[in-house]
Amino acid sequence: MPRLLPCRRRPAGFSLRLKVLGCYGGQLLGFRLTSFLVNNSILLDAGSPTEALSLEAQHDIRHICLSHTHLDHIKDIAFLADNRSLKRMGGSIQNRTICIHSLAENNRVLRDHFFNEAIWPDFTRIPTMDDPILKLVDMEAEKPFVIDGITITAIRVNHPVPCTGFLVDDGTSQLIYSADTGNTDRLWEIANAQPNLKAVILDCSFPNAYQRLADISGHMTPQGMMQDLQKFTLLGKVPVYLYHMKPETLNIMTAEVEVLDVPHLRMLTQVDELLI
Ligand SMILES: [Zn+2]
Ligand SMILES: [Zn+2]
Repeated sequence: MPRLLPCRRRPAGFSLRLKVLGCYGGQLLGFRLTSFLVNNSILLDAGSPTEALSLEAQHDIRHICLSHTHLDHIKDIAFLADNRSLKRMGGSIQNRTICIHSLAENNRVLRDHFFNEAIWPDFTRIPTMDDPILKLVDMEAEKPFVIDGITITAIRVNHPVPCTGFLVDDGTSQLIYSADTGNTDRLWEIANAQPNLKAVILDCSFPNAYQRLADISGHMTPQGMMQDLQKFTLLGKVPVYLYHMKPETLNIMTAEVEVLDVPHLRMLTQVDELLI
């Protein structure tokens, strides 16, 4: 069973540490956008790392696993890159490049519409093409790759733009992050097949009254999520942590999730750390 506690160092007995930097589907004072830090050097999405991490901790980041290109998941890549470039101009540093791992179609969107010199400088060519701040690395769904000792597998989910969740595996424990998704099948098939699954982080964005909005925007409500969770054979045994709640409806959603009365089902907060 994972432990949730505030802690800077990884205690003995836990090999995978996931720190929540932001877990909300909207940005308001005190509510940060989606981003999770795995073992200090890997980000799952980048909605808020420059708001949540010290400059020193930002410079430890070497990889970003990017689920999709919606702004709430890519926003802080811009500012991470900017901070990294100042650090590099100040002298040589160990972690020179941040690799962004995403579907080829997503990397194309980043190149054409984000790091295009109009919205933000092209940090895939700064300071040089041979040694850039950002490197876009195409990944394929369900083709595992290893970064910093962690095996990552992207899993396609149900969202209006190409989007993948991620299976994170350190060799002894596994964790699944759904990313933004409406009802989905493949994620659960893969979750059910894992021998050491310790936690699932799952989209739950809107209150039940907004089911139609959730359906057309590729998200879940507590009742929609509950229907989807019927496909998860480990429900009630493996913890399910909810993220992407809209901050302004958080109180309503909290009540709606409590009524479900499912063991080990709860909303994340942005100060949580998951140690597994
Ligand atoms: Zn999205
Ligand atoms: Zn989102």
